[in-house]
Parts: sequence; C-alpha cells; structure tokens
Amino acid sequence: MRYNKIPDEAVRRLPTYLRGLLSLSEQERKKISSQRLADFLGVNHWQIRKDLSYFGGFGTPGIGYDIEKLIRQIRKILKLNMVRKAALVGVGNLGSAVLRYPGFRIYGFEIAAAFDNNPKKIGRKIGHITVEDVSKLQTLQKRKIDLGIITVPCEAAQETFNKLITAGIKGVLSFSPCYKTGRKKIKVITIDIAMDLSRLSYYIPPSQFVAGQALS
Ligand code: ATP
Repeated sequence: MRYNKIPDEAVRRLPTYLRGLLSLSEQERKKISSQRLADFLGVNHWQIRKDLSYFGGFGTPGIGYDIEKLIRQIRKILKLNMVRKAALVGVGNLGSAVLRYPGFRIYGFEIAAAFDNNPKKIGRKIGHITVEDVSKLQTLQKRKIDLGIITVPCEAAQETFNKLITAGIKGVLSFSPCYKTGRKKIKVITIDIAMDLSRLSYYIPPSQFVAGQALS
C-alpha cells in the first residue's frame, strides 16, 4: 500500500465511507457495489473507487465490496483498529458537550481525561470522567493518551496547545482557531463552525439572505 502523496481530501472522506459502511453492516448487508455504496452515501461512485485506489483498491469487479472487510481495511488505514485515547482541555459549555457526545465510540475513540484550570471545575464529574487540574497534563504520556482536544477560549488556546505538545500529544483537534502551531510533526485539525458556515454560504443563492443587510 502506498501511503505517500495521498490527498488530504481522500483521507477526509474515509470516515464518511466508514460511517456509511457501519450503518450498512448494522442492516446485516454483506456485499455492496460501488454504485450502491455511492448512492447510500450521496457521493460519486468514481470518487469512492478513486479514494480507495490510493490505498490499494479493495473491491472485486462485478461484485463490489465486502462490507465487513472494507470496514476493517478503512479502520486499518485510519489507524482506528485500536482504541485511541484523547484528552480534552477546557470543560466549559462546549467542552462538557463534547465530553458527553457518545459518537466517538463507533470510531474507537475514548476521551480518557479532561482538564481545566478553574478550581470550581476540577474534581467535577462529567459522565465517567473526573475533571483534573491542567497542571496534571504531564501524566498523559504515561497514560498512553496521544490525542488532544482544545475547547478553551481563544486567549488560552496557544498556551494550551504548547502544554499539550510538551505533554507528548501527537495530534490536536481544536475548536479554537486562535494560535500558531509552528511544528510540522504535530497534526492539527481545527473545527471552526463560523468558517464552515462561510463555506456553506457560498452554495446558497444571495436571494435567500435577509434583504438590506449586505456588508460593504
Ligand atoms: P463557563 O462559563 O462555565 O466557564 P464557558 O464555555 O463560557 O463556560 P469559556 O470561557 O469558553 O467557558 O472557557 C472554557 C473552559 O476553559 C472553562 O471551563 C475555563 O475554565 C477553561 N479554561 C480557560 N482557560 C484555561 C486554561 N488556560 N487552561 C485550562 N482551562 C482553561
């Protein structure tokens, strides 16, 4: 399998394929053609074939894909064939909602720890996680936690990012776009709902906007 030069967009689509396949598997389907899989997911069938071809194909011409096998293969590509542990920093409204979100499990993620610097929040329980003092971030490596989730406010994001990196974190999912990473070896994915809304705006005709509120 050739993992070099695979477009980020192809990697970005793999979880969508995985989610669809998991749902098909729950319906006890065994095989599916790329056309049917594409229809189910609402994407182009050539796109699926092209994306999977970067990793070696996997389908059988005329038969399609073995659903369970493809699930295993995509999990392996995404390195989700093991439990991956993440730590969250910033247990405010957003952080608490993320901690309570049950959807991580289907991909094999476990949010194994949560941290805050507010003494009123330290010691509180959210689900089965007890909020710890942010000064304990150094324990992450020993606990085999190598993913970080940042849900602190903007002004605390840079400091939090730096602390996570010092604590040995290898990948960061950040809900705050307010810092510079500076280290190429650390993979950072930022979720900025406002930015995604801007992208959505591109697809919506201007006639749908409220009249008289155009920005100069
Ligand atoms: P609340 O008002 O309950 O704190 P919030 O979502 O409005 O909720 P924010 O100001 O967005 O709070 O902060 C999110 C969380 O990040 C809070 O729990 C806050 O205590 C925490 N936080 C802020 N700065 C840091 C920091 N430097 N290190 C760790 N946690 C921090």
